[in-house]
Amino acid sequence: MFEKIIEEVKNANNIYVSGHINPDGDSIGSTFAVYLALKKMGKDVKPILTKYSKTFSFLPFINEAKDHVEEEKYDLLICVDSSSKERIAIGEEGFSKANRTVLIDHHVKDKDYVDVSVVDQELPAASELVYNFINELNVEIDENIASFLYMGIMTDTGSFNYSSTKPSTYMIAAKLIEAGADFSYICKMINDTMSEGKLYLIKSAIERMEKYYDSMVRYTFIDYKTISSYDVDDEDAEGMTNYLRAVSGTEVAIYVREKSTGELKVSMRSGGKVDIADVAMKFGGGGHKRAAGFTMNIDGSTYEEEKKKLLDYIGVKLNDDFAG
Ligand code: AMP
Ligand code: MN
Ligand code: MN
Repeated sequence: MFEKIIEEVKNANNIYVSGHINPDGDSIGSTFAVYLALKKMGKDVKPILTKYSKTFSFLPFINEAKDHVEEEKYDLLICVDSSSKERIAIGEEGFSKANRTVLIDHHVKDKDYVDVSVVDQELPAASELVYNFINELNVEIDENIASFLYMGIMTDTGSFNYSSTKPSTYMIAAKLIEAGADFSYICKMINDTMSEGKLYLIKSAIERMEKYYDSMVRYTFIDYKTISSYDVDDEDAEGMTNYLRAVSGTEVAIYVREKSTGELKVSMRSGGKVDIADVAMKFGGGGHKRAAGFTMNIDGSTYEEEKKKLLDYIGVKLNDDFAG
């Protein structure tokens, strides 16, 4: 499956690996798994990581990451878990310095921005594909690689609970545990640890919740002033959709948060009836059927107008999807 990418790896020495900006567990997990595997092959390889949540600072090797390309040119860029060129952590300049580019991903494919890609939209995590890639490379999956891949799979499957989870996902998780993945510690550090500020942020998100379409749509907005007053970083202010969508009858949960830059990040989750990858793409973003997002563009309009456009469009989709 990965022959072409493996050929590219064989022909390259100076390699960068990059996930997406605002990285989640799958982005970081797949980036570092590829990084460690290629290092074992003797490649001159560097992982790229831009601003990330404090949640991930416990991870080994994380300090080895670069946030930009140091060379004028390099041989190969391996992109993982990155649905579009605009969202790649390595940035436009870093991307353009690559002689060749490849992608290993599981997002709804918008357009091809690399020379060679392996994309499987059916898989719940890029880390699952990367597991297969590393096996095909014939590199032994040691406990560090296993831990990164396990983290990627665990986070993107909601701890193996999302419907995207496949029998193969469990099978690979078993192999990773066999290889020494520190699954219990990873779960504790990622799923069961939060700052006090984050707890207050959750309270605010719930207090500000709005309901639309017979409460099938739940919406909350948090401004940056509130987020920073709780001493929560941009990256740590994620995940509020989880609470909204947990309420029974919710079809779409929407969380809009103002970033320190003033940008409005829209995060959406669907119960399954509405394809929100389509919604996100209409508004210039992307993602998966049940988890998608975009940056709200309020140039030439207002937040209220854009919010209404989004809710109206989702209303139409709700009607369509129920009728269909
Ligand atoms: P999030 O709500 O940030 O967890 O994002 C959920 C999914 O939506 C991710 O897997 C991303 O692929 C996708 N996504 C979020 N924001 C954007 C964006 N601005 N552009 C494209 N895809 C996005
Ligand atoms: Mn991701
Ligand atoms: Mn992913």
